[in-house]
Amino acid sequence: MDKPKAAFYWCASCGGCEESLVDLNEAVIKVLTAVDMVLMPVAMDFKYEDVRKLADKEITVSFINGAIRTSEQEELVKLLRKKSIYVIAYGACSHLGGVPGLANFYKKESILDRAYIESESTVNPEKKLPKMKTTVEGKELELPEFYDRVYALNQVIDVDYYIPGCPPVPDVVKNAIVALLKGALPPKGSILTPNKSLCKDCPRQESKPDKLSIKEFKRPYEIMDNGDCFLQQGVICLGISTRTGCESSCINANMPCRGCFGPTDNVMESGSKASSAISSIIDTNDEQEIDAIMDTIVDPAGLFYRYSLPASILGKNIKIKK
Ligand code: SF4
Ligand code: SF4
Repeated sequence: MDKPKAAFYWCASCGGCEESLVDLNEAVIKVLTAVDMVLMPVAMDFKYEDVRKLADKEITVSFINGAIRTSEQEELVKLLRKKSIYVIAYGACSHLGGVPGLANFYKKESILDRAYIESESTVNPEKKLPKMKTTVEGKELELPEFYDRVYALNQVIDVDYYIPGCPPVPDVVKNAIVALLKGALPPKGSILTPNKSLCKDCPRQESKPDKLSIKEFKRPYEIMDNGDCFLQQGVICLGISTRTGCESSCINANMPCRGCFGPTDNVMESGSKASSAISSIIDTNDEQEIDAIMDTIVDPAGLFYRYSLPASILGKNIKIKK
């Protein structure tokens, strides 16, 4: 019997999602031998043309990580959508836009200037910027278009399932692959982790008081961590508004949650839910004092929207910095 075909493609990604497959340890061999991989740029030299030649829906599942920022990424995800029965958004960047999505706070031009002209390690006296078409020795070279903004995968194509996390953790990946191979998948659109907040699974949960109140926010390096709930110690922890399933990875490394698994199903928007949850524990009704306490939060937009700006209902209505 033919093995199911699978693809593992990256878009605007750091490569960490590919690394997460290695975290499966010996199970990665079982996974890779159970499927016939047809595209996996990080490890295998398939050509896009090979994918174009496949029949529609010939690929059983495409795992797509990274956000969408270029015309090449858009073209490839649309091609994989056409050729696949299931498309799974793999990792926070694909699920919600992720860290690359923070670029939506800036204009495309200022990003290019920073990367190719202003950065400390760049030597570019002619201030040349990448162009879509360049002629070199009579030959025309082409680059993909760099879009004005970053998109989550479901803003570009229809997505069947989501594996959250930055990067996804081995058990979630393993369970998803087993469910796929057995044909035991939940309803379309499901996020393949439990629908409850991280606090419910957190090893520090017992020390989280029923009523939290905070007069000043601190950063992790500013406290002598006593092992209690981070919020109880005045450090912002987004476990209160973030979906569980990460095996408390950051908490177990003595770092607060930063929200990479995104929200639970009943929450429309990660960033505003997180900021309203944090605002609700500020212990004063005095406006000036509230402002002073809020000022102790460093980079609130980057904190509350670290993984979710492109998917935010704020859409294009965000204040562009430059
Ligand atoms: S989700 Fe995290 S690990 Fe995966 S590509 Fe994005 S930044 Fe990298
Ligand atoms: S707020 Fe953070 S540290 Fe406290 S119980 Fe929730 S996840 Fe754990």
